[in-house]
Formats: sequence, C-alpha cells, structure tokens
Amino acid sequence: MTRAEDAVRTVRDLRARVAAWRDAGETVALVPTMGAIHAGHLSLVALAKAQADRVVASLFVNSLQFGPREDFHAYPRDEANDAAALTAGGSDLLYAPDASEMYPPGFSTKVSVNDLTEDLCGAARPNHFDGVATIVAKLLLQCAPDIAVFGEKDYQQLLVIKRLVRDLNIPVEIAGGAIVREDDGLALSSRNAYLSPEERKIAPVLYQNLCGVAGELEKGSSADDASTAARAKLEASGFRVDYVAVRNPDTLEVLQGQVKDARVLAAVHLGKTRLIDNVPVPLQAR
Ligand code: AMP
Repeated sequence: MTRAEDAVRTVRDLRARVAAWRDAGETVALVPTMGAIHAGHLSLVALAKAQADRVVASLFVNSLQFGPREDFHAYPRDEANDAAALTAGGSDLLYAPDASEMYPPGFSTKVSVNDLTEDLCGAARPNHFDGVATIVAKLLLQCAPDIAVFGEKDYQQLLVIKRLVRDLNIPVEIAGGAIVREDDGLALSSRNAYLSPEERKIAPVLYQNLCGVAGELEKGSSADDASTAARAKLEASGFRVDYVAVRNPDTLEVLQGQVKDARVLAAVHLGKTRLIDNVPVPLQAR
C-alpha cells in the first residue's frame, strides 16, 4: 500500500524493505519520479510491474538538477495525490526522502557524464545532467533494484543514465518506456500545467512538427532541410525554439544528409513553459 503516511523517508528504511523482499526471493524495480504523477509515470510503473515482483516509486524534487532561474520552487508538489495514484498504478512502496536525507550538510560529491551532455538540453541547462546523474546514482545505490525504468520523454536523460550505469558498473538494468501522450499528441508532462488555455491549444503543434520531420526524412529529405523547416514552422506558430535536432538514436551524434535511423528531438518555449519531445525515425520504430 503506497499511502503518503506509509512512505519510507530514509535510506535505512528503504533498504530494510527491499532486503525483506529479497529474502523472500522477490525481484525489485525502481521508478524514479519528481511527483506530479500522471499517466506517463504510471506507464513506467506498469512496465516495472511487468518485469519485477516489487515496484518502488521514488518521489523527490531534485534541487540539483534545476538552474537558478528554473522552476524548482514552483514545481507542483502533492504527495498525498501522488501516493494514491502510484498505489492505484501498482507501486508497492513510495520512497519520499526529505532533502536533508538526500543531501545532508557537507554533501560534496558530483556525478558527471561528460559525453552526451554537452548539447541539446545540456547546452540550455548547464549542470542539469550533473544533477540528474548524481541523484540517479544515489537512488540506484540506495535502492539497489534489479531494474530501473525511465521515460523516453527525457530521451537525452535516458541515454545519460544508461551511460552512467555502464561506466560505473552499477548492477542494474535500465529500461526505457514509450512516451504517453494526450489525444492531441502533446506529451504528458508535469509542466503542461503551466500552459495557459491559449498555449495549451498550440502545444500539440510541437509533436506534429516532430512527426513532420520524421516523415520528411523517411521521404528522403536531408536532416538539415527537415529540421530547418520544422524550426521555421514552430516559430511561426508562436514557439521560441531552443533546438530541433536529428541525431543518432544511441550516441546523439549529429546526423547530416539523408538518414534512415535517427531520433528527432526538440525543446521549445511557449510563454514561460519549456517543453521537450522526441520521435523515432522511422516513426513506427517505437
Ligand atoms: P519526472 O517526474 O518528470 O522527473 O519524470 C519521471 C520519469 O517519468 C522520467 O523517467 C520521465 O522520462 C518519465 N516521463 C515523464 N513524462 C512522461 C511521458 N509523457 N511518458 C512516459 N514517461 C514519462
């Protein structure tokens, strides 16, 4: 039962609960979240449940991965609702440590994945991926799950985490879950709540343009032409474009000319809200 009052708050209690499961011969999956639970998070819980006997969902709004002018303080927090949603979604345990448990006084270690983080979201959000790598390394060491599940919504993050686990020999399997979308194509995100009704109407144009790029690539357009055209269309629709990029799906290396196997990634601003999304090429390769 994952009610807010049943959440474990300390590494010690988390390890005791996981140890009891292991003693009973059960496998364990971890689904890290920052709360504001939506159907995208719950799809990861379902994926975790399908692959392990027990699912731990963690809830921690990680200050380290927010920039000084970003929305750490405004980030939506509602632990009771999140706990109820995670329970209904099949989670066995909520791990919701306080900031002081995660980052005690004197905390001074940083995990940094150099490759993969220099551009795309790393360019616009300096230190973001260090914050992500540090918290994920900590969560994996604290919980020691057999498998940890992350969303393809944060595609660059997923690759960074896979690299982190490989480089540090952390004994866990990293699984990626497909992006869950609204009916109109907008990827579910906690930050969609920031959109005004007017902006919400425009937001699905992001996904439409990413599909457009994928379609153009499949028809033989060059990566440059397809992404430049998408950028112009997004700007004409009212987005401020951070990037639209066609990349190698495993290494995020820049792809030019005609491409057959790629990931199209974008980050845009709509008013005060930053939105990210991505699609595979070919589109049906999900
Ligand atoms: P967050 O709470 O935003 O840090 O996200 C926690 C996990 O949920 C991350 O692994 C995200 O990639 C994943 N996630 C967020 N939105 C979606 C979505 N729309 N579909 C699938 N996974 C998602």
